[in-house]
Amino acid sequence: MVGYTNGVLYTMRTWTVTKRLAAKKREMKRLVRSFLGYPSNAQFEYSALFDFLRYPINNVGDPYDDSSYLLGTREFEQEVLAFFAQLYKIPESNFWGYVTNGGTEGNMHGLFLARELYPDSVLYFSADSHYSITKIARVLRMEAVVVPATSEGTMDLQQLAVLLRDRQGRTPIFSLNIGTTMKGGIDSIDAVLAVLHTHGVRDYYIHCDAALYGMLLPFLEGAPVVDFTKPIDSVAISGHKFIGSPVPCGVSLTKKEYVERITRPIEYIETLDTTISGSRNAFSPMVLWYAIQKRGYDGFKKEANTCIAHARYLHDRLVGIGYSACLNDFSNTVLFEKPPAAIRERWQLATQNDRSHVVVMQHVTKKVIDRFVRDLQKCVR
Ligand SMILES: *Cc1c(COP(=O)(O)O)cnc(C)c1O
Repeated sequence: MVGYTNGVLYTMRTWTVTKRLAAKKREMKRLVRSFLGYPSNAQFEYSALFDFLRYPINNVGDPYDDSSYLLGTREFEQEVLAFFAQLYKIPESNFWGYVTNGGTEGNMHGLFLARELYPDSVLYFSADSHYSITKIARVLRMEAVVVPATSEGTMDLQQLAVLLRDRQGRTPIFSLNIGTTMKGGIDSIDAVLAVLHTHGVRDYYIHCDAALYGMLLPFLEGAPVVDFTKPIDSVAISGHKFIGSPVPCGVSLTKKEYVERITRPIEYIETLDTTISGSRNAFSPMVLWYAIQKRGYDGFKKEANTCIAHARYLHDRLVGIGYSACLNDFSNTVLFEKPPAAIRERWQLATQNDRSHVVVMQHVTKKVIDRFVRDLQKCVR
C-alpha cells in the first residue's frame, strides 16, 4: 500500500507494483463481463495507438489554429470533426467544433455560447435532463427553468408553454435531450419549435444534449432528425459512450459565427482560446479518428441497429419472466423494476426511483443478455 511513514511518502518495491497492476487488470477483466448499467461501449481495440502514450501531446487551444505547442494531433482532430460536421449536416463554411473531455464539457461549451449571445435569457430544460445541465446553469449563473417531464422522459410541452408565457420578453435557451440518461427520452425539436412559433418567439437558442443518442439516431431508419438542417445551434456528443474509448471524450459542434464572439487570442500559446479546457487531450482525437477509420459510417450504422435489436430482445426477455419493462422507440435503454441488490451490484446497474436500467451497448450481446436474465430468474424478488 502507498502510505506515509514519518511524513515521507514511500514507494513500493518493483515487484509489488507489478503485482498491484496485475491484480487491477484481473479485476477489470472480470468487471467488464457484467457491465450493463452504463452507456459506455466496452468493445474496442486501440492497441495500434499505444505508442502515442509515449509523448507529451497536447492540443492546447483552438483545433483550427496552430499553436507554438507542436506535439499535438490537431490534423486528426480536424478530421474527426469533419466526420461529425457531415453527419450533422453543418455547412463547412460555418462549422466549428472541438474534441472535448466528454458530454458535460460539450454541454457547457454550447450553453456558454448561448449565454454570451443572449445575456438576458432563461435556460429551459426538462426535469429528466442530465445532472450536468443544472450544474452548468449554476456555473454560468443562468436563470434555470426546469420543465416537468412526461413518463417517457421527454419535456412536457404544455407545461413549457405556460412557463414561457410567464417569462415573455426574455430570450429562451433550450437544452433539449436527445436521449435522456435514464429512460432514453428524446425531446422533439419540431414540437418545441411549434410552441415557440405559437408564442411568437423569434429569438431563441437550441442546444442538443446528444451524449449517447447523438451517435445512434443518425444511423436508425425513421428516427427523429437531429441535425443543422433544423434551427439548432449546438450539439454535444460523448465519444466514450457509443464509439467507446478508454479515456472520456466527446465533441462539441456549433456554428463558427458564435465562437468568434468568445474567442480571445493568447500570446503564451500563440493560439486562440475558444474552448473550455486550456490544455486538451490529444490522445482522444486519435482514438476517435481510429474508430472512424476502422468502423466508419457503415460500421457505426450496423452497430447502432444491433444495439436497438438487442435492446428489444432484452425487453422481451424481461417481460417474459414477469418483469415490467419499458423501452422507448429508437432507444437502447431498457428500464425495469429495480431487481434485488445482489443483481444490481453484480451487473453494475444504475438505479433511480425504484427502477434500474440496462443500456444495451455493443458488448451487450444476446449471450450476455441470456446470462443476465438467467441470473435474474435465479434470484427471488
Ligand atoms: C452521459 C451524459 C452526459 C454527460 O456526459 P459525460 O461524458 O459523462 O460528461 C450528458 N447528458 C446525457 C444525456 C448523458 O447521458
